[in-house]
Amino acid sequence: MNKPAELQLDAVPVWIQGKAVVPAPGRMGEVFNPATGQVTKRVPYCDASIIDAAAKAAAAALTEWRNWPPLRRSRVMQRFLLLLQENQKQLAALITEEHGKTLPDAMGSVQRGMEVVEFACGIPQLLKGEHSENAGTAVDTHSLRQPVGVCAGITPFNFPAMVPLWMFPMAIACGNSFILKPSEKVPSASIRMAELLKEAGLPDGVFNVVHGDKVAVDAILNHPLVNAVSFVGSTPIAKYIYETCAKNGKRVQALGGAKNHAVVLPDADMEFTADALIGAAYGSAGERCMAISAVVAVGGAADPLISLLERKARAIKIGPGDRDGIDMGPLVTDQHRAKVASFIAKGKAEGAKTVLDGSTTAMKEGFFLGATLFDHVRPEMEIYKQEIFGPVLVVLRARTLDEAISIVNANPYGNGTAIFTESGGAARRFENEVQVGMVGVNVPIPVPVAYFSFGGWKSSLFGDLHVHGVEGVKFYTRTKVVTTRWPHQDTPAPGLNMPTLE
Ligand code: NAD
Repeated sequence: MNKPAELQLDAVPVWIQGKAVVPAPGRMGEVFNPATGQVTKRVPYCDASIIDAAAKAAAAALTEWRNWPPLRRSRVMQRFLLLLQENQKQLAALITEEHGKTLPDAMGSVQRGMEVVEFACGIPQLLKGEHSENAGTAVDTHSLRQPVGVCAGITPFNFPAMVPLWMFPMAIACGNSFILKPSEKVPSASIRMAELLKEAGLPDGVFNVVHGDKVAVDAILNHPLVNAVSFVGSTPIAKYIYETCAKNGKRVQALGGAKNHAVVLPDADMEFTADALIGAAYGSAGERCMAISAVVAVGGAADPLISLLERKARAIKIGPGDRDGIDMGPLVTDQHRAKVASFIAKGKAEGAKTVLDGSTTAMKEGFFLGATLFDHVRPEMEIYKQEIFGPVLVVLRARTLDEAISIVNANPYGNGTAIFTESGGAARRFENEVQVGMVGVNVPIPVPVAYFSFGGWKSSLFGDLHVHGVEGVKFYTRTKVVTTRWPHQDTPAPGLNMPTLE
């Protein structure tokens, strides 16, 4: 007898204790190929019992793993790096198939993730503590960086490999074990990375992958064995994760959404600026947390910039991300496409000037939407206030640099921003005064390299520490300070009073 159609689809496994397992039948989600609109796989929505199994596996693996010398842990990272390089195309193809972005863009995103692994290979140097001889007479003091324990990562759909790679290489190189809950929309890259980690020699249980929605996330946030949580996703969920972890006594960093502004001054090289903005606004169909989604054109910059942006946006080639010569793929789901299209309708209704309307782009299949450009957008409009997370660029006009900086600073988000100008003085002022975590000067998407740290300000990050780089090491370690004195060194034992240094 033939199985029903939905049961013929592959189910994406979870990864616990070094093995791929398909959980017993329960709640399942659908994974789409956004370029065709077809369901290609099913993904299990884990319940608390599966999260418990992952947490127990991670806790059991910790005892041995945290005591491996950092250099030995680094060698696992070095082998993992080589395997990622060998499998970069395969990972990129999985990303394009489930997310929709173009293959070259997916390759670039895996590359940026691999750079974190390169940084994590230097973990012996990064974990070195400090030592003070004679902090008191014949008393020495040194500090240690020790792992936090079982760490978890909860990641968004838009970077299926890169955002998990911001987290787990740093966490496990520091001696922690890890549970990853990738976005249920793009689950496969995480499982492939789990296989590569095993091949690299990572002991079973140190890295685990579970899937699902709020039920799985809540089970992680409330599990007593989980010590620290890294989250990347939208602002309302980031806030919820931050508050729940704080209540439960867990260390937490929760990166949220964004509305990234580019300020363009009249002295900017307009052709260069327009090219940069087109890539930053419409690359990956605008589904990047560092996408430029708002331009603030100052004074005479607006008219020449808008006409260049319109011409270049009209030339964007839209189609399946795995096809050569395509600039922009589909959106991730039909539901998300409908949400972005509804913002385009709202922009028209609120009186913004439609320069280019992508909602009219017709394709035979898939979740496609064309590039959209709005001019004369005002801060009170919904298309400015909301994170649209699609190929929609809004342009506001400001009279002066002062006014432009005020607009950026009044926005609740503070992930990334950029200024386009030939003036060093204006750029320096912008860099100094803008209330945003990552700033570009003639660089539209100023994502820091892996040996710096990534993170926004205000509603774009809840928590104190950014991801990867030295802040990643701080997040995934606890400091211990040890004070040592040895007897029989002709110094008397301390009495009842607090000692002075005399
Ligand atoms: P999302 O917030 O919907 O989902 C993120 C993760 O949270 C997923 O794993 C999802 O399963 C889980 N989740 C969803 N709803 C939940 C709930 N109610 N309770 C608990 N967990 C829940 O985000 P998304 O749509 O996958 O990704 C897009 C968002 O991520 C955008 O807002 C984008 O700006 C943001 N993002 C931010 C950064 C950054 O570095 N700041 C990077 C990438 C993406």
